[in-house]
Amino acid sequence: MTKQEHLLVCLSEECNEVIHAVSKTLRFGPDEIWPKMEQTNIERVRIELNDLMAVVTMLEGEGFNLTRTAGEMVAKQKKVEKYIEYAKTLGTLKD
Ligand SMILES: [Mg+2]
Repeated sequence: MTKQEHLLVCLSEECNEVIHAVSKTLRFGPDEIWPKMEQTNIERVRIELNDLMAVVTMLEGEGFNLTRTAGEMVAKQKKVEKYIEYAKTLGTLKD
């Protein structure tokens, strides 16, 4: 395994940790503190996002171009807003 491959596994693991923290936030609320944890669920999301970005930065240091671009981010935000409106028409999302 190369260092790049190792870091890609780390990236995958951190994505899973973000998913786990988001799931706990949805299931138990943003302010709940899981037993034996010191942070709220939403703080865990923030921490895991920082872990994720740390690995992204390391991958960039190993030669991958993972640059965040404002244009792509704005495009994604518009797409999410579009589907928020669609979900409202279906009644699956309320104001
Ligand atoms: Mg982590």
